Amino acid sequence: MRCPFCAFLESKVVDSRSSKEGDSIRRRRECLKCTRRYTTYERIEEVAQMVIKKDGRREPFDRWKIKSGILKAVEKRPVSLEQVESLIDDVERALFNSSEHEVSTDNIGLAVMERLKSLDEVAYVRFASVYRQFKDLNEFMNELKTLLT
Ligand SMILES: [Zn+2]
Repeated sequence: MRCPFCAFLESKVVDSRSSKEGDSIRRRRECLKCTRRYTTYERIEEVAQMVIKKDGRREPFDRWKIKSGILKAVEKRPVSLEQVESLIDDVERALFNSSEHEVSTDNIGLAVMERLKSLDEVAYVRFASVYRQFKDLNEFMNELKTLLT
């Protein structure tokens, strides 16, 4: 760590304490050359959440992408922005955890559909038709039928 005053590279730690949340450690350092003090923070590097696309490529999980898809589906439906946000929170919690940092787009789609279904059936069908890319009208009608029975 380079001293911000004289650029000397060596220092000693005179005090260190954890943040309230326990996610970082603050250290007071004293430059071994000019003896002035400065503060450094140490924190855990966040583990990136990755999405595996249909073609096998990976990209960082993008909450906004999912949100815009859902917002299209709930357009003019009695679903609040708050409900959409908490649905995504729920999906994120369910799919990503301490051991799982990668999920496929299919699994995300299914997880969203599952939750939309109980929120608003019209929104569900709209979302499903985009996500599943129903091959023909029959497939789509079958899905509708299962909803209506
Ligand atoms: Zn210094």
